[in-house]
Amino acid sequence: MPWSPIARERPDWMTVRAPSQRSRFGELLEIVRDGNLHTVCEEARCPNIGECWGRGTATFQILGETCTRACRYCAVRSRKHGEDLDPLEPAKVAAAAQRMGLRHVVVTSVDRDDLDDRGAVHWAQTITALRRRCPETTVEVLVPDFLGAEEAALATVLEAGPHVFNHNIETCRRVQPIVRIKGDYDAALHLLRRAREVWAERWPQRPALLVKSGIVAGMGETDDEIVETMGDLRASGVDVVTIGQYLQPTPRHLELDRWVALDSFRRFRAEGERLGFGSVFAGPLVRSSYRAEEQQLAATGAIRAAAL
Ligand code: SF4
Repeated sequence: MPWSPIARERPDWMTVRAPSQRSRFGELLEIVRDGNLHTVCEEARCPNIGECWGRGTATFQILGETCTRACRYCAVRSRKHGEDLDPLEPAKVAAAAQRMGLRHVVVTSVDRDDLDDRGAVHWAQTITALRRRCPETTVEVLVPDFLGAEEAALATVLEAGPHVFNHNIETCRRVQPIVRIKGDYDAALHLLRRAREVWAERWPQRPALLVKSGIVAGMGETDDEIVETMGDLRASGVDVVTIGQYLQPTPRHLELDRWVALDSFRRFRAEGERLGFGSVFAGPLVRSSYRAEEQQLAATGAIRAAAL
């Protein structure tokens, strides 16, 4: 199957730099391979890998390499059943984060509809291992939707004490059923809202949880629909939003609909500020975990300032 004409006409602003010889890219690769770990940077063929790994940051992917969904835009391999869980994975992730010297670590996972708890206990073990081994490091979790086990999974994951809770809504309400297998727009908003509520109800003494979500542009939505989605996220208590350009991983994946104009990303940033997000990261190469530490710091600062 050939690439679509739009995908072949890649604009200049989508050009990324190759990793520099003097960067930390090689060192991170060695740490990831030594620990037999997976990163979404590699699995999702992220265009920022040279920059992020060069700066010494990566996003760990736990619960295996196989996703039990097959969303049309996603490069991660999918099957009905994932791999057996590695009980040592939480400790290996924590050891790798320590070796990398991360001040902020992002962990994500594949969907595991084949597990009764959807992987929530493994998630909690990973957060706990990170918090014990790297007590100065902030932990961001980019979780799946835990379909069918949402409330129990939320309680398990949040009990372990992440600093940032992230769940990507991915696209607008109209496009959601076209591109996401089993994805549900309202369920995603509900999960985000419940994360904040459960945190406040169960652990009122803890510092506020930062709640985050991300949108991928170029999958068939309009700019107005993105702004509408941002409004829905904000109304669900989301503090940080990221918006980036969809890149079609292979010709077999969802066809790229458009290259989103730089002016549109400017508009999303302005609308996000108007809506009151603590931080809005919008740009062609922005990904949910792109410069995640900066996003977290910006949002925390803005929220504190607003409270004064
Ligand atoms: S943007 Fe996220 S997924 Fe991409 S390379 Fe950076 S850390 Fe990895």
